[in-house]
Amino acid sequence: MKAKNVKSTRTPIYRDAGFLLGDIPTMKKAFADEVGHPINPDLYIYSRYRNPTVVAAEEFYCEIEGCKWSLLSQSGMAAIDIALSVFQKRNQPNKWAFFTEIYGGTNSFIDKVLVNRRGIEVIRFAPDGNSYSLEAFGKFMEINKPQVVFFEVISNPMLLVADAIEIIKVSKKHGAAVVVDNTFATPYLFKPLDFGADIVIHSATKYLAGHGNLSAGIVSGNDMGLAAEAIEYRKWAGHMISPDEAYRLHDMLKSFNIRIKQHFDNAFAVARFLEQQPQVESVCYPGLSSHPTHLMSTKLFRNKGFGGIVTFDIKGTSFDDKQRKCDKFIQTVSHSIPLVPTLGDADTILMPVEPVWGDRYPYPGMVRLSIGIESVDGLIESIKEGLNALK
Ligand code: PLP
Repeated sequence: MKAKNVKSTRTPIYRDAGFLLGDIPTMKKAFADEVGHPINPDLYIYSRYRNPTVVAAEEFYCEIEGCKWSLLSQSGMAAIDIALSVFQKRNQPNKWAFFTEIYGGTNSFIDKVLVNRRGIEVIRFAPDGNSYSLEAFGKFMEINKPQVVFFEVISNPMLLVADAIEIIKVSKKHGAAVVVDNTFATPYLFKPLDFGADIVIHSATKYLAGHGNLSAGIVSGNDMGLAAEAIEYRKWAGHMISPDEAYRLHDMLKSFNIRIKQHFDNAFAVARFLEQQPQVESVCYPGLSSHPTHLMSTKLFRNKGFGGIVTFDIKGTSFDDKQRKCDKFIQTVSHSIPLVPTLGDADTILMPVEPVWGDRYPYPGMVRLSIGIESVDGLIESIKEGLNALK
């Protein structure tokens, strides 16, 4: 068993489950070092603990996020589990606050795992109509004094942009740790850690990987104590990403800044187009002045973009008429804009809102477009074709 040693500009895919330690003193040193949970150990032990291919991708991502540490996990949900679990302490109060406008899977994780299984006390903060009231949030924090606050910068599917800088400030003032899910805004638009958030997570399955063919999560921060806790939790919960997926993600991250600009530019063009169409009742996009959090997004994202999701509502005379038209639109565009239940793919894909969100967003004519990086002219032609079919 002799490994070939060749020179390469890349860290190769180390598929080893366990790494060669060779003798007892080396093994002892490896395990002694492991007690401190180093980010990039001198001696690798076991791939579920740490893997050099994974660490290479993590170091690369740190440059994009501008942070001290990043850890990869096998999904965005695993990243959320890691980020929250480091704050769960025995014999200490665990009252955690979640904004209501967060990913449905996260809401299910809260109900089914955090509350029902782990007994965490969960409280929820809801927007006031179409935006979050900072005054109400201040009062909420004062009354409830949670240990953790969790929110998303851009919500889904209504794309409410949170006043993230102020929310972080108020949370910290009341002594809470802040975890931000920044999957929709991405580090291109906003970096919560720069404003004092403790941990930022992403479903890297979406824009960071960007091709709709990889499942991964990223947990990032600046506090090295939290890094050690997150490494330990990932190790024992078994949330480590595979080296193959880390290697693929590493390559995809190299084009992130170029891809994301194209997503956001295309989305803005599609939103502007839809706004002018007689078959469309309303368009929900933070870049449009009609969006309830337009001013907030201009301030927070400093005109770099407004995200890659465009949600719009098709006109109709009744619930059934709208649903029928929505289905007709989806079928007409399916050759170029398929119904696929994810987002952040390089190709434009869509989801109907009411069948997915039900009573939360009971709008039968509503479609959520996840805009891709293809030619925007062709994309607009396809949407036009879908709208023209609505007789
Ligand atoms: N966070 C947000 C905002 C999401 O939209 C999703 C998935 O859609 C997740 C987290 C979970 O990510 P994953 O599907 O990679 O586990």
